[in-house]
Amino acid sequence: MYGIKEKFPHLPESISGLREMAYNLWWSWHPEGRALFKLLSRTGWYLSNHNPVKMLNGMDEGSLQEASRDPHFMRHYNSVMARFESYMDSSNSWFSSNVADPKKVRIGYFSAEYGLHHALPFYAGGLGFLAGDFLKECSDLGIPLAGVGFMYPQGYLRQRISPDGWQVGACELLDRENAPIRKVTTPNGEPLSVKVPVIDPPIYLEAWKVQVGKTELYLIDTSAEINDPWNRIISDRLYTGDPEQRLRQEIVLGIGGVRILKALGIDCSVLHLNEGHPAFAVLERIREKVEAGSSYREAFEQVRGTTVFTTHTPVPAGHDVFSFQLMEKYFGSYLPTMELDRDAFLKLGVNPAGKSGFNMTAFAMRCSAYRNAVSKKHHEVTCKMWHQLWPEVTEDRVPIDYVTNGVHIPSWIDRRMGDVILNRYLGRNWLEEHDQPRIWELIEEIPDEVLWKHHSSMKALLVSRIRERARQKWLDPERADPRLVMASGVFLDPSALTLGFARRFASYKRPTLMLQDLERLRRIVNDTWKPVQIIFAGKAHHDDQQSKLLLQAVFNAAKDQSFGGRIAFVEDYDELLAQYLVHGVDVWLNNPLPPNEASGTSGMKATLNGVPQLSILDGWWIEGYNGRNGWAFQGAEGDGRDGKDAAAIYETLEKHVVPLYYDVDEEGIPHGWVQVMRESMKMTGPHFSTRRMAKEYTDKFYRSAIGSAMKFRGRTAREGAKVDLFGRI
Ligand SMILES: *Cc1c(COP(=O)(O)O)cnc(C)c1O
Repeated sequence: MYGIKEKFPHLPESISGLREMAYNLWWSWHPEGRALFKLLSRTGWYLSNHNPVKMLNGMDEGSLQEASRDPHFMRHYNSVMARFESYMDSSNSWFSSNVADPKKVRIGYFSAEYGLHHALPFYAGGLGFLAGDFLKECSDLGIPLAGVGFMYPQGYLRQRISPDGWQVGACELLDRENAPIRKVTTPNGEPLSVKVPVIDPPIYLEAWKVQVGKTELYLIDTSAEINDPWNRIISDRLYTGDPEQRLRQEIVLGIGGVRILKALGIDCSVLHLNEGHPAFAVLERIREKVEAGSSYREAFEQVRGTTVFTTHTPVPAGHDVFSFQLMEKYFGSYLPTMELDRDAFLKLGVNPAGKSGFNMTAFAMRCSAYRNAVSKKHHEVTCKMWHQLWPEVTEDRVPIDYVTNGVHIPSWIDRRMGDVILNRYLGRNWLEEHDQPRIWELIEEIPDEVLWKHHSSMKALLVSRIRERARQKWLDPERADPRLVMASGVFLDPSALTLGFARRFASYKRPTLMLQDLERLRRIVNDTWKPVQIIFAGKAHHDDQQSKLLLQAVFNAAKDQSFGGRIAFVEDYDELLAQYLVHGVDVWLNNPLPPNEASGTSGMKATLNGVPQLSILDGWWIEGYNGRNGWAFQGAEGDGRDGKDAAAIYETLEKHVVPLYYDVDEEGIPHGWVQVMRESMKMTGPHFSTRRMAKEYTDKFYRSAIGSAMKFRGRTAREGAKVDLFGRI
């Protein structure tokens, strides 16, 4: 049974509010919510890996009854429920007071991945966390958004490393009953089923709902029995390498996604495409309007005028290009339903500066009136890359804007840092007003001892968590290989300067850059009085052999005795491990090959928590680095640039980072270092938050797109639309 009422049948009436709360990710960014579940059962919370749905499913009726009779628990329950309900009910929001009545508009937000919580493994990396953080912030600001994405039953690649360093991913099927997702049903309780017209034989989609505070996220599921086996696996996993299967995925996401919203009665005034994958959504929106009586041209103009497209990929090879044959095979019978002929359609996807085929980014650019890159530098690169779509203007007039990425502050700040330190020194309202720079000026008031003590405890916690994972390996007869255990952080020392490098393993991120000069690295890490240690984590994509080789090289360094246990590779990087790392290491290391890192967000999570970044000048760091809040170096050009960039890192470590870190007073406090920590927080808190970003999206694009939607709504069909088919300005 699918309805919420059927969940947790053993839950006593007096605490039945836990049902709604468990299925609303509100608890994931409200510490009081998490604390309530932990109070209910500390062991259950631990064993469920901080997942209240799993925890409640596993609790027996007796313990729940007991909790409902415990006055201490009930006091907490009542107070947290009141806060949850007031959050959910509040009709006053930033959006309602500044933009429009949220009941009258809806923004459909489409993304191939979402990083919301480790219990929902529907992400590969930064793109997903950007989308996940955005949904949470829209809930906080009252921006009326409905998210659409995929339910990947095998989204979770549990990373396992063999003793010789090879990534052998074990796919773990998502346990749907125990995840905070609910199947979407029709009013009579049947699973919603929506047909995608383009694919033959037709495919039927079901959907799951994730409640993210006030924001709803719908996840498409293709696994229904009624589908052909080949179709059932369309949404099996993120980013398949096979072009045809990938095209089918994107058809399902874009066209299927619009159909699901329609079936649910969700009428979106604005469409926001997060990267090119879901761009076919515009076609279905055009088709709907043509079906309702508009001409193709008018429908195109209306859809384009209400579509926002965010591009994230600064390298040409990163954009999906499908062959024209493949496009014809799938779209041949669909196009006539919107009075669009084949040639005109294929032209929409032509990239004059790139290889032949249907380019999803070119298509999305032409079909949206609002387009943006995700950092200042990425904006420059994007305008250059897509200049040919607007040959009549100079490069600096290419109609693409930018909104620099950010991170959701309540999700990524350590709970104690927020609740104890910032509440005390920044004032109780700091979280409500966290995009105001003046609030963060008060960081100067935090005494060095307080910040340092906090940071030291976070680092101790990180080291203890990593060692515990290593110990569990040691206890597992199948994994107790000493090489595996030694490489995974048993020797980590909470008093040594600790660098963190954790992200997807992809070659442009250069995870092995630090290993360029092994002799020099050995000297740095093995210093007797000023040791340095490096913690690596990250997954390679399943089909990416090259990245698996990079991972192996890192792993081999970790188990190499000559590094004395100062290099660790921690398996299975996910949201939970990311939290420990960004709160607990001393320095966040980032060394992609410029200009490949469009923005990067993990460094924002670290710096927010007073973990300064050492990074090459690329992505957000070009905007974020101010000379006081960490360390930066310019990437080298031409031949041998990896060697030069590595040398720049070694030198920065030797000359600046190591001496500053170990320059401590009698109490062991490195005052100079603590000042860098403060500067990090002061920069990131106000400027690199999802709040600043969501307000910018609203002010730059949504406001005006909503205006267009209102205008179009008032117009009659087949009336005056004159716009170049290519959507040129
Ligand atoms: C933030 C985050 C990312 C993105 O990291 P980048 O360094 O920006 O690539 C990837 N994975 C996880 C688990 C994250 O939390």
